[in-house]
Amino acid sequence: MRKAIVAGNWKMNKTLDEAIALARSLRDLLDAVHHVDMVVCPPYPTLSGVSEILKGSPIGVGAQNMHWESQGAYTGEVSAKMLLTAGCQYVILGHSERRLHFGETDDGVRKKVVAALKSGLVPIICVGERLDEREAGRTEQVVAKQLRGAVGGLSAEELLRGIIAYEPVWAIGTGRAATPEMANEVHTFLRRLLRELHGEGVASAVRIQYGGSVTEENAASLLRQSDIDGALVGGASLKAESFAAIVRAGSEHTGG
Ligand code: PEP
Repeated sequence: MRKAIVAGNWKMNKTLDEAIALARSLRDLLDAVHHVDMVVCPPYPTLSGVSEILKGSPIGVGAQNMHWESQGAYTGEVSAKMLLTAGCQYVILGHSERRLHFGETDDGVRKKVVAALKSGLVPIICVGERLDEREAGRTEQVVAKQLRGAVGGLSAEELLRGIIAYEPVWAIGTGRAATPEMANEVHTFLRRLLRELHGEGVASAVRIQYGGSVTEENAASLLRQSDIDGALVGGASLKAESFAAIVRAGSEHTGG
């Protein structure tokens, strides 16, 4: 059975003091929660501070992006090694906000995925359609292109070390989550695609998170779905109690 994984994407929120306070609260609330992997993804300048607080706790730390090169003249960018030394084990890649506001392409996401895996970071690879694409009946086409673009050239062993996040763009930050059935349908499609790419063993083991307006109210119904193995949470991850409630819903996940 796949173990659920719930990750919080703090985006561009929380100063160092605020991030440390949130990490402390999460550590206290989640210390005794089992059967679920949990991750927080704070902004770069707070990664070391948050990692220090969460050291020895069951909560992992991830970044929200990285560059594919290991060093050099890339002003404003950070490398996988820098993230590792700041205490990260995970990195979110290809988030729709990166694609939309910073021009990230499938090819760029692929290079980042390869670099992350090579370094030992676990990539959380985001795919998802815009509203106009869903309304045009192109959801499967869009997510298939993104997924193939990001993981097409990976070996089965590499793919098994990654996590996929299905995040419909129209559901992110809008308060309008996909219904559990609607989300599960896309997750099932993505798993079928993984099966085509790498066979049943990989397809049945890779975890696929859902992201898009997940709250403590809707988390359990989403996480009960057969192909939904966790959540990538934005807004609701900024409040310790809300995120902890979603993680607890993940610990009761029985899918996969
Ligand atoms: C996200 O940014 O990955 C996200 C899912 O945001 P929200 O939960 O706020 O919709």
